[in-house]
Amino acid sequence: MHKMLIGGQWIHAKDGGSLPVSNPSDGQVFDSISRGGAHEIDLAVKAARAALSGPWGAMSLTDKGRILVKISQKILDHEEELTQLEARDTGKPITTARNDIKVLARYFEFYGTAADKIHGEVIPFVNGHQVSLIREPLGVTAHIIPWNYPAQMLGRTVAPALAVGNATVLKPAEDTSLSALRVAELALEAGLPPGVLNVVTGLGEEAGAALAAHPGINFISFTGSNEVGTLVQQAAAKNAVKCVLELGGKSPQIVFDDVDVGRAVPIIVRAIVQNAGQTCTAGSRLLVQRTIFDSFVGKVAEAFAKVKVGTPEMDHDCGPVMNPAQYARVNRYINQARESGVPVLAEGTLATGLSPSGYFVKPTLFGPVPRNHALACEEVFGPVLSAMPFEDEADAIALANGTDYGLLAAVWTENAGRLQRVAKAVQAGQVFMNCYGAGGGVELPFGGTKRSGHGREKGMLALEELSSCKTLVHYHG
Ligand code: NAD
Repeated sequence: MHKMLIGGQWIHAKDGGSLPVSNPSDGQVFDSISRGGAHEIDLAVKAARAALSGPWGAMSLTDKGRILVKISQKILDHEEELTQLEARDTGKPITTARNDIKVLARYFEFYGTAADKIHGEVIPFVNGHQVSLIREPLGVTAHIIPWNYPAQMLGRTVAPALAVGNATVLKPAEDTSLSALRVAELALEAGLPPGVLNVVTGLGEEAGAALAAHPGINFISFTGSNEVGTLVQQAAAKNAVKCVLELGGKSPQIVFDDVDVGRAVPIIVRAIVQNAGQTCTAGSRLLVQRTIFDSFVGKVAEAFAKVKVGTPEMDHDCGPVMNPAQYARVNRYINQARESGVPVLAEGTLATGLSPSGYFVKPTLFGPVPRNHALACEEVFGPVLSAMPFEDEADAIALANGTDYGLLAAVWTENAGRLQRVAKAVQAGQVFMNCYGAGGGVELPFGGTKRSGHGREKGMLALEELSSCKTLVHYHG
């Protein structure tokens, strides 16, 4: 059984509790983790607080950054091991898992090299005064992450927190804690002082809820479902703790009749089947101008039918979905859509020889999907693409903005003016023009509008979210 890392010590849960770790490709248990709860969260928050008054607190930002860069190198030195671990834990294809590990390393590199480049400002004020703004760490930051991109999520939220000098408590998802534990071990080896990164494994309703409600934290970053995001925000509000929420999405690909078909089709297919559709930024709605709906969606269907699903080792386009609950959820959406008469335009194929107890789902393209159908508005979080026609620019914008979500969008047209108009009118945190970046872009500020959440991660903006601004006013006469 894997222990947790608290204050530089590897410990089991006080009550000896454990949780099984299963392989999504065959449903078999292959390992176990400690089931931490309120007690372990309390220890971790105290360890993080103590670390802020230890060597970490006294260290220059340059030296903090150097440690992060060393962590990045350690991750790259263990790329193969971490790739295998992540692929087994999540079921994703080896190539996807390898990319996730490279992105994890990139987060530590990006934020490690940014650590001493967060400059303050000087503000003109009443004569005789010097006013400057400096940025300070928030203190103890809490991070609750989901199971879809465990390694990337760790890098995305923990690396910037450390770069500005916070001490962190991480609660990985119960299904996928293995890479977080291994990265924490590598971080210690790279010289990160004890207590600066604490990893408490356990259930969301136990360890996660205890972390969100702990009065000793100063910030919480949550990535996951809307339901839990609301609970986390409520818990944080009771302690007046700042909260960044990265929640769900129903991101539109908006395709006009002058699209570069050859460029768009493979990117659109990839943006929904990547990670078996379990990507918050998956392009799950294909909105196509009616004049080319049949021809364009036909091309997408041809490419979609070639999508293959298999085990990590087979390294096809996608792997199984994560767990039995996810398997049931995705199949429920697919079956209900079929039963309600929405046409299936294409299906991917399952590789031969897959375990019948693995959570493999056939990627499915539906269309035309009625505008008020569940598939048009709700996040499936699986490899399901909903094609829908629109009439003109105004209709495209209305349709694109017609869900509760606002995470990503893409606009496909060769008309430069239309690209700009539509990109500006679409409600989303990121808009891609003639390209798409599901999950990509360490350098690019990222986050939602509407029910997709608030606050920004990634890029230099994350460093502002994870620090506070102090105004210094000096009367010098
Ligand atoms: P989830 O909300 O069930 O779990 C996310 C994390 O929250 C896990 O670590 C879990 O243990 C923890 N948790 C569960 N209950 C909790 C509670 N009561 N208090 C505190 N923590 C708790 O979500 P999931 O099923 O792991 O992920 C799927 C959802 O996440 C999808 O809706 C997806 O769109 C969203 N997501 C969003 C992003 C983004 O960046 N916007 C990224 C990935 C996933």
